[in-house]
Amino acid sequence: MSTQPDTAASTQHLTVRCPFCRTWNRVAAARVSDRPKCGNCARPLLLDRPLAVDDESFQRTITETDVPVLVDFYADWCGPCKMMAPLLDEVAASHQGALLVTKLDTDRAPLTSQQYNVRGIPTTILFRDGREVAREVGAVPKARLEALASK
Ligand SMILES: [Zn+2]
Repeated sequence: MSTQPDTAASTQHLTVRCPFCRTWNRVAAARVSDRPKCGNCARPLLLDRPLAVDDESFQRTITETDVPVLVDFYADWCGPCKMMAPLLDEVAASHQGALLVTKLDTDRAPLTSQQYNVRGIPTTILFRDGREVAREVGAVPKARLEALASK
């Protein structure tokens, strides 16, 4: 049995696109809570809350991020989605560096929604290494979100 420390956590990265200038950034997971800034425009990447993704940025975000990625499929007109939003904010804030929480507007990202067969919103899906691990359909309490996030 090895007693060597697992150093994988210190070398994990998140791959996120700056919401302001759309430049891709690689952020060390260990540095996420240090309020990292975009390498191009120097504005904060705001990873303490759900990060907006779209059809263009989705695949790269989930495949090039080493920590699990939780995706909230939502729409602006969806009441239950609005109820879920503060819970996702809390999960994002409390799991900084260990989990990337993202949100995808299904009206603006129809291709991704179709690809993952999202038929109702809100739908929350956990991805690891770019692959779906588990999902919750409909508004769920925070405990269910936390359980999903730890799968
Ligand atoms: Zn930027």
